[in-house]
Amino acid sequence: MRPVRPGRPPGQFIQNSAMIMKLEIKDLHACIGEREILKGLSLEIPKGQVHAIMGPNGSGKSTLSKVLAGHEDYTVTGGEVLMDGQNLLEMEVDARSRAGLFLAFQYPIEIPGVSNANFLRAALQARLPKGEQIDAVKFYQRLYQKMDMLKMDRSFTARSVNEGFSGGEKKRNEILQMAMLEPQYAILDETDSGLDIDALKVVADGVNAMRGPDLGILVITHYQRLLDYIKPDVVHVLADGRIIRTGGPELALELEEKGYDWLLKAA
Ligand code: ADP
Ligand code: MG
Repeated sequence: MRPVRPGRPPGQFIQNSAMIMKLEIKDLHACIGEREILKGLSLEIPKGQVHAIMGPNGSGKSTLSKVLAGHEDYTVTGGEVLMDGQNLLEMEVDARSRAGLFLAFQYPIEIPGVSNANFLRAALQARLPKGEQIDAVKFYQRLYQKMDMLKMDRSFTARSVNEGFSGGEKKRNEILQMAMLEPQYAILDETDSGLDIDALKVVADGVNAMRGPDLGILVITHYQRLLDYIKPDVVHVLADGRIIRTGGPELALELEEKGYDWLLKAA
């Protein structure tokens, strides 16, 4: 079923009572320079579910997340992405974020000179209607509550975004941004990389606390380990720019046991 006509204006929402709320990626092709990295990738993440993408290094996992976020280095050459029926690929980067898409980067960027608190405040302010101001007291109450959940020291509010943060602190900070922005769909790109087991549990607890019917989550990971803590509803395997297998959580365990080679040979 196609609930939405292709080629309509960006951001326009077509009301359709039969429409299921989901992030829908259809036959997506994307290039970097001349090289095609995504070669017809399709998958659907219904709101309320946690899906995992696993795959060998270089298979296109980060490329997918950056293409969804609208990174300028990547050119989409085919396919479409619908977020609750909105044509995501025709939206500007900031519009994607305001519409409820969130990406936690594999390599979070540092923003010297911008404090974490001001960054989050500006990001939230940008979501409000014109003329409406964030209530500073409520903002800090919420910020501290989320930081406590993620076991982050209060000093992180005044520090520049990610500057001098350890790998684990950067990943926690990504999840803090997610907790503050309350997206509709969140993509977590290798949020487990660089985390020791304690930090991994804190991050997973934070993500699990946000799980619910109003959020779809795509967890991208090379290793099964993270999925011990964030239990996915569905697991997809990405290889050479395409989904080659979709299954339940047991697929991740099978990959852990057998590696990727058996699937690549079967594909
Ligand atoms: P994964 O996240 O699955 O490890 P990536 O999406 O990062 O894979 O990379 C997929 C392929 O695209 C790799 O072969 C990588 O070398 C290539 N690639 C990614 N980013 C760039 C870039 N900025 N310039 C050139 N090649 C890139
Ligand atoms: Mg990657």
